[in-house]
Amino acid sequence: MPPAGGRRGGPGGHYMSDEELAAVPKVTSALIKRVFSYLKPYWKQLILVLLCIALSSIANLLPSILTGKIIDEGLIGRSMKLLIIYIAASFGVTVLASLIGVGESYINNWIAQHITFDMRNMMYEHLQRMSQRFFTSNNQGDIITRMTSDIDGVESVITNTFKSILSNSITLVFAIVAMFQKNWILAILGILIIPLFAVPTRRAGKTRWKLTNEAQQCNDEVNGILNETLSVSGQLLVKLFGKEEEEFERYKAVNNRMINLNIRERMAGRWFFMVLNTVTNIGPMLLYLVGGILIMKYDSTITVGDITVLVALLGKTYMPVNSLLNIQVDWMRAMALFSRIFDYYDMEIEIKDPENPITPGEFTGEVEFKNVDFSYDGTRQILKDVSFKLESGKSMAIVGPSGSGKSTIINLIPRLYDVCAGAVFFDGVDVRNLSLAELRKCVGVVSQETYLFNGTIRDNLRYASPDATEDEMIAACRKANIYDFIENQELGLDTVVGNRGLKLSGGEKQRISIARVLLKDPKLLIFDEATSALDSISESKIQEAIDPIIKERTSILIAHRLSTILAADKIYVLKDGMIVESGQHKDLVRAGGVYTELYETQFKNSDIIGGNPDDHGMAPFPSDEY
Ligand code: ATP
Repeated sequence: MPPAGGRRGGPGGHYMSDEELAAVPKVTSALIKRVFSYLKPYWKQLILVLLCIALSSIANLLPSILTGKIIDEGLIGRSMKLLIIYIAASFGVTVLASLIGVGESYINNWIAQHITFDMRNMMYEHLQRMSQRFFTSNNQGDIITRMTSDIDGVESVITNTFKSILSNSITLVFAIVAMFQKNWILAILGILIIPLFAVPTRRAGKTRWKLTNEAQQCNDEVNGILNETLSVSGQLLVKLFGKEEEEFERYKAVNNRMINLNIRERMAGRWFFMVLNTVTNIGPMLLYLVGGILIMKYDSTITVGDITVLVALLGKTYMPVNSLLNIQVDWMRAMALFSRIFDYYDMEIEIKDPENPITPGEFTGEVEFKNVDFSYDGTRQILKDVSFKLESGKSMAIVGPSGSGKSTIINLIPRLYDVCAGAVFFDGVDVRNLSLAELRKCVGVVSQETYLFNGTIRDNLRYASPDATEDEMIAACRKANIYDFIENQELGLDTVVGNRGLKLSGGEKQRISIARVLLKDPKLLIFDEATSALDSISESKIQEAIDPIIKERTSILIAHRLSTILAADKIYVLKDGMIVESGQHKDLVRAGGVYTELYETQFKNSDIIGGNPDDHGMAPFPSDEY
């Protein structure tokens, strides 16, 4: 069995192993206590439900007891009046039981909906606080499954499983008590038939539990495949690599496995019904036989009505016993479901707010890295002893080969990850001592991969600043050099950007995201320049937008193009996670080191790809002026 969540980067570890599955599920009292803690806020409604269940269970049994009276006093006693009274009473309690059932169902559903509402919110809130590491290392399908079908499962546990346990137990207890009241010998005989159900049910329960877990893993895998291959970019990848057939085969294979698992799971609990059916038919016959022997040979006080009541009551125990035995499976299933959910709740929040955050007064955007080491997985070191200081109001460019750790440096500033050694300071305070919300408010990032929500340009801009006025939005768009484009759209700011902004070009998206960051008005602006080649007009428009912006605020530029590098006050050259050179362009280019090499291979032509560097105000290069 591959790890849950599909072959590409499944989380593993969240599911029970085969060995664990083979063992009896461990339902600890701590787990049960925890499950019930979610019911606690609704204890008043629960008492009401309990009352309704008890009343309707008793009301459901009354007609069976009245049958004895109908036979003995009405039919055998030949009293029309009593016959009508008992029949009417029987009918009355049946209607009453149904009415109580409706009320109980309403309250029960209300409780279930409220509990799932609480759990869903709690899960969402918890997931929102999980670190970037969690989202990059867990399969999206698995995360979505926990949020959706697992929590939906809780609703059915409350409306079906819990309710069933309660109502069936109450019915069973009342039926047995009533049977004993009629005749203890016949009651014991009835009870003796009951254990015949138990053995096959226990076996079926374990098998089903195991299969349910396997099916759930399979389901996660299907979700993972769907998420990967039916997302816009996934689908593009599939198309461009001609992988349709391969992906379809992969989907079909998992789907096929799921079908088999589902069929086996559904069937696993069924074979013991055969035993149940036989017992259901034999039970009454045995009661009539032994009852008849008792009446005829030993105890003439027993009436025909009594035996009929006992048979009717025995009949009323089959369903609850059957359900209760089946419920053992559902109960284990429910506990597995809850432990899956609790697994997520218990996942530690890696990036936490400090207990006593320090507030440095006015933020200026100054950043300092002191001997920072970092690794994503704890083994491969990505950043080694990185130190630099960016003073407020200044700008710096980070350059370096792909994979050298440029984006990683950026990730450490708003604490998407925490350093492994050393420290990152923001305005002189270790970022781990700042309130996360404050820190992130001060840092604005225009990332390589621009993410726009499916909505209008206005919606996307307002995400940064919900109170932004029309004028502020227009001013930000002008600064980001995108307003001309927006003005030319029929709907202006109300133009819909499409799924992930795909109705816009890469350059337009970048400029909208620059406008969005400007509306946020951060103290520190980070611009992670797209490595993908934009056309020269788009690039120059972006350049025109960011040039004045970085002059007026503290900024870090991850640069791939010469013009961006030249816009910065200082350049840091990163290689294999270490800062190997730093300084001004004109010095670095002559130093004959990594920068010279990068310049020769990458930057030199970067601004002439689509035209002359003069087009956007750059002097031809190299020149001694730099
Ligand atoms: P590029 O210029 O191509 O964007 P970069 O210099 O920004 O590259 P980073 O994205 O910082 O490089 O990545 C540095 C190294 O860390 C790479 O080897 C990458 O494989 C690894 N890495 C990046 N993100 C993660 C992650 N979430 N988990 C594990 N490793 C990662």
